[in-house]
Amino acid sequence: MSINPISIEDIHRITSSQVIIDLTSAVKELVENSLDANANVIEIVFNNYGLNSIEIIDNGSGISDSDFEGVASKNHTSKISNFEDISKINTLGFRGEAINSLCSISHVKITTTQSPPKATILEFDSNGAITSQKVCSRVRGTTVCISNLFHSLPVRQKDFNKNFKREFSKCLTILQSYSIIHTGTKFSVFNINNKNKKHLVLKTQGMDQIKDNLLNVFGSNGAFGMIPIEIELNLNKFKSLSSFKIDPSGSLDYLIQVTGLISKNSNGFGRATNDRQYLYINKRPISLVKINKILNEVYKFYNLNQLPCFVLNFQIHPSFFDVNVTPDKRTILLHNESKVFEELKEQLIKFFDQQDYNLSKNFS
Ligand code: ADP
Ligand code: MG
Repeated sequence: MSINPISIEDIHRITSSQVIIDLTSAVKELVENSLDANANVIEIVFNNYGLNSIEIIDNGSGISDSDFEGVASKNHTSKISNFEDISKINTLGFRGEAINSLCSISHVKITTTQSPPKATILEFDSNGAITSQKVCSRVRGTTVCISNLFHSLPVRQKDFNKNFKREFSKCLTILQSYSIIHTGTKFSVFNINNKNKKHLVLKTQGMDQIKDNLLNVFGSNGAFGMIPIEIELNLNKFKSLSSFKIDPSGSLDYLIQVTGLISKNSNGFGRATNDRQYLYINKRPISLVKINKILNEVYKFYNLNQLPCFVLNFQIHPSFFDVNVTPDKRTILLHNESKVFEELKEQLIKFFDQQDYNLSKNFS
């Protein structure tokens, strides 16, 4: 077979299906946009577990009229303007791909305003071009509604139709992880069933403690036996090693603040499974199994019977890690990873030893 170009339309479909792989990635991208727009109230409404539609309603910044053309255009973003910006950003998104990809695989409708009550409803074609623009009224913020998800990808649509309950529950797990770490933001998640009844599935109250969010998400025992943890990983001590990478300017201290909640090391407060282990970098839920392993391993020195529960945020300057590894941005490359892990282990042991010391002091 000779080498021929793929049509632009099909390239779009192929690449979009990598950005939005399932219900979870669709919802995750939209929630991240609301968080990036500094919303502190975010409502997510699934219609028939997302099979009909999903609506994300926020009270964030809204989108200005002059940005309407760009909002669903491929690789158009308000978050970076060049590659170097990635090492400085604090937003969850930066590739300008999500809305454009969603247009290719679902029907997208955006209602938004920066100067209420006058708002605009935008609809788009599969390439992300505006097909309809109407005036309506709305309080400040943005609503993104996607319907008929995966209509242009028959295999994936079939799979979604078949496994929608499993997909929905996976999606809830991710929504839990965002709502737990984002203190000060009220999350509510609803499902409208096929009898048109709206059920609340998840709600946080926008309190300023992670502990309160855990209680909201998991009920009154949600934070049972968990204590605050605050440790600092100081990587500067490794600076003299030739293999040690520092930021390009070399001017930043390589410090990582680790804060959150973790199970007490005394017996009885962990869990048999690792289903309540939440890890974040700069409040972005991430998957870094080696860190889970270190935490489990250190915890074992003190408690042989259980695994720890934890909600831990690693605050790291963006120049010390690379988030641009996988489309879902959950995989992270940390600079000097092995040294970070070494330091984490050392500081965790110190932290738990201190707990033991406090405990024995109280009983002496
Ligand atoms: P990215 O988040 O990588 O910039 P997206 O495709 O997710 O790309 O969004 C494109 C742009 O649309 C964003 O850069 C932002 O300016 C705007 N946008 C999307 N969703 C919202 C929202 N909920 N509130 C305000 N602006 C939004
Ligand atoms: Mg985005």
